[in-house]
Parts: sequence; structure tokens; C-alpha cells
Amino acid sequence: TTAPHVTSVDPATGAELARHPLHDDAALDAALTRAHDAQRAWRTASFERRAEVLVAIAAELRAEQERMAELITAEMGKTLREARAEVEKSAWVCEYYAAEGASQLAPETVDTGGARETYVQFPPLGVVLAVMPWNYPVWQVMRAAAPALMAGNTVVLKHASNVTGSALLLGEVVGRVERSLLETIVVPGRAVAAVIADDRIAAVTLTGSEAAGVSVAQACATALKPSVLELGGSDPFIVLGDADVEAAAREAVKARFSNTGQSCVAAKRFIVVASIAEAFEEAFAAAAGALVMGAPREEVDLGPMARVDLRDELADQVARGVAAGGRVLTGGSVPDGPGAFYPPTVVGAVAPDSPLAREETFGPAAAVLRVPDEAAAIALANASPYGLSSSLWTQDRERAKALAASIEAGAVFVNAMTASDPRMPFGGVKRSGWGRELGAFGIREFVNVQAITVA
Ligand code: NAP
Repeated sequence: TTAPHVTSVDPATGAELARHPLHDDAALDAALTRAHDAQRAWRTASFERRAEVLVAIAAELRAEQERMAELITAEMGKTLREARAEVEKSAWVCEYYAAEGASQLAPETVDTGGARETYVQFPPLGVVLAVMPWNYPVWQVMRAAAPALMAGNTVVLKHASNVTGSALLLGEVVGRVERSLLETIVVPGRAVAAVIADDRIAAVTLTGSEAAGVSVAQACATALKPSVLELGGSDPFIVLGDADVEAAAREAVKARFSNTGQSCVAAKRFIVVASIAEAFEEAFAAAAGALVMGAPREEVDLGPMARVDLRDELADQVARGVAAGGRVLTGGSVPDGPGAFYPPTVVGAVAPDSPLAREETFGPAAAVLRVPDEAAAIALANASPYGLSSSLWTQDRERAKALAASIEAGAVFVNAMTASDPRMPFGGVKRSGWGRELGAFGIREFVNVQAITVA
């Protein structure tokens, strides 16, 4: 018999990369204690000291960029180019909070009229449990960890099982700068509720699917602990009649197929006004069909998806979408051979009640839906249980700004694709979750908003 473990598999070949033993109760307990003890010292560190540590973590990430990128690509199949960019962006978010955290968390004086001194300060909460997905194995973690650390918390990382190697390497890299600020635990998803209930955990941040969100929210409710939930999305990419169709189609390709389509804020529903629909579909499908799929260490646009089961699920969604009346404009069939490959696919004539419109499609398949006019476009964009981000294409900037608030999404990008930026808040409404990461809002999620009155 083999000890309980998780296996890392190269999705480009199906080859086993490594077996990582699961942490037993004693190892888990020790990791929680280390993170808890480390936090007691870290919470008293000055902002200057915390900033120095974050800058050193950024430098360490850059020094290890190639090794980390190799492992990310090996474990989940994104191209090496994308993996390198992800590590660089992770270094950036550390430097961003190192530079901005002190002012974002500076005490705020409140004028209460009398002689009393009144202000608000923001001490940390404690140890934050970060439950993370495999699609950006380093970025997702540092997006959550950098602000949490700058605020004086420490982090326990429970990563997606298929990227355990990346999780352990990240723990090692951060640990080289300062021990136990980020403790990686290797446990299955079903062990998370007990960790949430543990007294050493103060709060939880989850990036993952809606189903994981429901479990984590339930466990947080039972334990009465705060959470940030970054869940799934089915982001609309709305092209109005006066849009620059060529530019929209070009960005649409990046918005849907970057990271092999496996991004929570990838555009998934392309909602196009009938007058320009044909031109858009033609340009979009042609550009998507020209993308090169292949081994992710080569000069390709797309690698494989992260796992064969996820590829099969996407293929099934496309099949059901076609059965519901969709028309494949490019791609749409699983290639022969090993690996979790799925070609860049565009499906036109998708009906509003098609599985391709109602479900999150987490891979390289785009759904194009036609609408008669702007009002129908906005209504259809909002006819989703999700509300993560959105993209709106029109040459009328003022009209776009006026429409933005009517779009039920955590972000609106006008004449651009959605991309996260450390300086801007990031998160969703509806079943895409709650709370915000990044920017000044993100660093205030895991602090105590403490009101001080000195008579
Ligand atoms: P997932 O299956 O939900 O897994 C995410 C994490 O949650 C993993 O660490 C997983 O551990 C854990 N988990 C799974 N079931 C759980 C449960 N019942 N209780 C506690 N933890 C549980 O998601 P994924 O396949 O890794 O990632 C894809 C999903 O993440 C998509 O829905 C995508 O939209 C979403 N996502 C959202 C954002 C955002 O910012 N909003 C960003 C990226 C991805 P195991 O691997 O051990 O099961």
C-alpha cells in the first residue's frame, strides 16, 4: 500500500511528474502552529519592515522565475511565456503593496467634535487560510498573500491538488526570505472545513469554483469567520453596433484564449448586435482558428488544458451547445493523441438558454450570441448567475460610461479586455462571490477596522 498522496501529472503528455504525500494530522497541526506563532511576531513588525520583506520576496520570485515557470507549465500546461509573465506579475503585486500598504492602512482621524481624540486604525486579523485554484498557480496565491502579509497577517496555503509542486516551491521561496509567513499544507479539499474551524485560523480567502465557494462559505458560517470568495464567471464581451469590429475581434481572441481559456475573467459570452454580428464572427473565428496549439514549451499560443477531465467536460459543454442549436465556426473536436488538448473553438448562433450561455466554460470555447440592439445586449449580459467582469465595445465613450453601472459585474472594461491590475480592486457580485482583492480595497479585507477613542 502507498501512503496517501496527490499526484502531479503533465497535461501535455499524461506523464506522472511527482507524488506528494498528504500532510497527516501532526504535520497539519505543526504548520498551523508555525503560521500562528509567526503571526504574533509579524503583527508587531513596522510597515517599513514588512515592505522590506515583500520587496525581498519579489526579488526571490524573480530569481526563481525560470524554475517556477517550468514547474507551472509542467503541472498545468500553460505556455512557458505565460508562466514567466505570471511570476513577474506576482513580483509586481508584492512591490505594489510594499510601496502602498502603509498609506492604505494609515490610521484615519475622525472629527467627533469634542475634546476626545478619535481615529480608526487597521491591525491585522491573524492567520488567513488561502484556498487557491490551479489556473495561475503563483499569481492567485500572491494576489491574496501580498496584501494579507503587508497588513500583518500570515498565510496558510491550501492549493489545488494538481499544482502541489508549485505550491511547495512557492512556500520554499517565500520561506527563504522569512520563515512561516506562508505555510503550504497538502490536504484534499474535503479537509478544508476542519482547518477553517481551527482556532488558529482567523479568516479565509478562496479563489475557485462556485461549488467550492458554497462549501467554504458554509464552513465559515459555522465557524463565524469572515471570507473573501473569488468564484466563477461567465463574463460578457458586448459588441455594440458602433464598435470598431476589427479591434474588438482581435482583443476577443486574447480575452477568450489566453491561458488556454482557463481564466475566471476570460470573456465567455460574446454578445453582439446583429448589424455587425457577421463581420465580428468572421474576424473572430478566423483569428481563433489561426492560433497555434501545441507543446507548451514551444512557441505556441495555447498549451493543453490543465487536466483531461476538465477537457472532457468542456467538450461535453460544446456538444450540448451544438445540440441546443449552436453552430461551430472553428475548432470543436478533440484531437487524437495524448494530453488534455482542446482546440480554440468558436460557436455561433448560441441561444440564451444554451449550456454555453448558462454555464461557466473554463477552457478555449467561445459562445457568440446575437441581439437586436443595445438594450437587449445589456439585458442578456445580466441574464447570468455570475457577475465577475465584463467588456463593452463602442466608439461612444460617454455612452459606455453611462451604461457601465447597469452591468451587473465587478468590473467593466470599455474597448479593452479584462485584465487584473494590482492597483485596481478585483472581485465579483452575484454567484461570482464577495469581497475584493487588490488595490486599497483588497488590503482592507483582512484587517480589524478598529475605532479608537481617547478621552
Ligand atoms: P476548484 O475545483 O473549486 O478548486 C479550487 C480550490 O478549492 C482548490 O484548492 C480545491 O482543492 C479546493 N476545493 C475544492 N472543493 C472544495 C470544497 N468542497 N471545500 C473546500 N475546498 C475545496 O476550482 P479550480 O478547478 O481549481 O479552478 C477553476 C475555478 O476557479 C473556476 O470556476 C474559475 O472561474 C474559478 N476562478 C475564479 C477566480 C476569481 O478570481 N474569481 C480566479 C481563478 C479561478 P482540491 O484541488 O484539492 O480539490
